[in-house]
Amino acid sequence: RYYPTDKGEILDKRRAHFGGNLSLTYTDPIMLVRGWKHHLFDEWGRPYLDAYNNVPHVGHAHPRIQAVAADQLKRINSNTRYLHPAQTAFADKIRSKLPETFQVCYFVNSGTEANELALRLARAHTGAKGMVTPDHGYHGNSTGAVAISAYKFNKPGGVGKADWVELVDVADDYRGAFRRDDPERAQKFADLIDPAISALKGRGHGLAGFIAETFPSVGGQIIPPQGYLAAVYQKIRAAGGVCIADEVQTGLGRLGEYYFGFEHQGAVPDIVVLGKPIGNGHPLGVVVTSKAIAESFDNGIEFFSTFGGSTLSCRIGKAVLDIVDDEGLQDNARLMGTQLIAELQTLEAKYRCVGDVRGMGLFVGLELIHSDGSEATEICSYIKNRMRDHRILIGSEGPKDNILKIRPPLTIESADVDMIVMVLDSILAEVEMGASDAPRDSL
Ligand code: PMP
Repeated sequence: RYYPTDKGEILDKRRAHFGGNLSLTYTDPIMLVRGWKHHLFDEWGRPYLDAYNNVPHVGHAHPRIQAVAADQLKRINSNTRYLHPAQTAFADKIRSKLPETFQVCYFVNSGTEANELALRLARAHTGAKGMVTPDHGYHGNSTGAVAISAYKFNKPGGVGKADWVELVDVADDYRGAFRRDDPERAQKFADLIDPAISALKGRGHGLAGFIAETFPSVGGQIIPPQGYLAAVYQKIRAAGGVCIADEVQTGLGRLGEYYFGFEHQGAVPDIVVLGKPIGNGHPLGVVVTSKAIAESFDNGIEFFSTFGGSTLSCRIGKAVLDIVDDEGLQDNARLMGTQLIAELQTLEAKYRCVGDVRGMGLFVGLELIHSDGSEATEICSYIKNRMRDHRILIGSEGPKDNILKIRPPLTIESADVDMIVMVLDSILAEVEMGASDAPRDSL
């Protein structure tokens, strides 16, 4: 073994030598040393079900990814200043999944970098600076990406909203201003764009564009009402802006029915941002756009990323997309998502504290509420930690952190789905008995 198994020692070293704001999941953190498909194993070899991590899209430790990576590392790992067939093959594969207008790919190393680049593209194309974005969004950790991520800049300790940014409400039809009983809700949420553009103009900023996670994830696993983004994009384009779809969480088949989230919305963006799952764990981000936008950006300044688009990255990225196709993983996401959502709905009917079950494919949220409908943050935290006690890993999201997030690798199987729901059922029964009010030590 090349790693010490003493978890306490690792935790102490981490606390001493890593940044304090590098968060650790769970009251009792887990050390994971192996993965296989949607299964994880700790330092004792104990198994966990990974129902949370969207990065290992085609499963942890996929043999085809291992083989491709090993093969390419034996040959060459070089950059985009030299020709290599892996780079064009990867771009061809991505383009084959997108509408015809997407002709140009840029390869970078993370979702953050991809969004940062998308921002530059929008500005180069429009000559303007202002951006409109939904509240509670997350697009990355760099200065530019944080500036368009209300989830970060509006937190205590955050830098606050820049004057070139304007926020609109998330199109949350469970808790937002316009609810599911209102057939006009998509248009009403979209109409919030008009005052946002005016506010930017009032502060002397032209409109560079609009950026949103196609389905807001950190905002609470929200599925915007159908047609919302189409209506937003129409307004943004009418005002001269560019529409950016951050598909980092929603792309590549996770939604089952759709390869990209914007397809559900009847909308075609101008720029698509991909990250996380596209490298299955290897650092990789991609920006795809039209010829016209790429030409505006090709303004005399070289664009270069040392590692972005390396031969290794391109081999891995293409392999991930091939595996999704070859193993029918988009279809599996549709089937498993349908089963999961149907089973979770039985819990919604059974337990008062389950306010809403929503999702599409393997992008699923379960909102926990108090009897007055307010956000039940502590119940959510209790359940997340109890699921971990049962070795099932899920997450939590939302402005009040009261939405359980279930977002497994696309390899998950029917029996795993049954197990998640069965364990969740038993934990919700504990909650009904008042267990979540008791100190955790007394469990
Ligand atoms: N966009 C979205 C929607 C994300 O969820 C994330 C990461 N959570 C990012 C961008 C940033 O990606 P990265 O962490 O790879 O920089």
